[in-house]
Amino acid sequence: MNLVIFGPPGAGKGTQSSFITNKFNLYQLSTGELLREEIKNKTELGVKISSIINAGDLVSDKIVSVLIEKFISKKEFQNRIIFDGYPRNLAQAKNLDILLKKNNQKIDMVLKLSVSLDIIKQRISERKNLENRPDDDEETAIKRYDTYEKNSKPVIDFYKHSGLLRIVNGERSITEINSEISALIEAIKG
Ligand code: AMP
Repeated sequence: MNLVIFGPPGAGKGTQSSFITNKFNLYQLSTGELLREEIKNKTELGVKISSIINAGDLVSDKIVSVLIEKFISKKEFQNRIIFDGYPRNLAQAKNLDILLKKNNQKIDMVLKLSVSLDIIKQRISERKNLENRPDDDEETAIKRYDTYEKNSKPVIDFYKHSGLLRIVNGERSITEINSEISALIEAIKG
């Protein structure tokens, strides 16, 4: 089973993905984490993308596609990936289908976490104190939310159309969201 977890920055995608990963023995593929690793290790790519990420913009589709393909093509991750932070726009959603198909796989469910901007701001400022991410200051967080708003509708429509979309109210407690997501996954596991 391959899943996508989708939602605005600060919606709890990372938190919920870790939980799902442990419970269902999946592999969490967070494009944001992969990109932050590149920056931390000061690789050529990391140097190139740090200003884009810190401005709250999206890194190019091509760069992120190369990063995720490395995982999709590996046997050990076959049919057990939770995509956390990918796709972020329609081109990426279509690209993901192509990459998965090439590797005889597909998406089984898309979980969309819905959270309002007010709650996002509150959560991101709390996270800033814990994780110290440079893109978690209020101004960049709002920019990231805008980026999400601009790109998300076609992605949501795309998955609604294919019948894969499940909308989860992400404003509740972590445990409540955990339970709902678990039930949704159990239901498709059969
Ligand atoms: P995240 O950890 O998912 O909040 O991602 C942090 C930042 O990494 C985003 O604001 C983007 O700049 C970049 N990023 C993560 N995933 C993608 C993606 N799929 N496409 C483009 N940029 C991405």
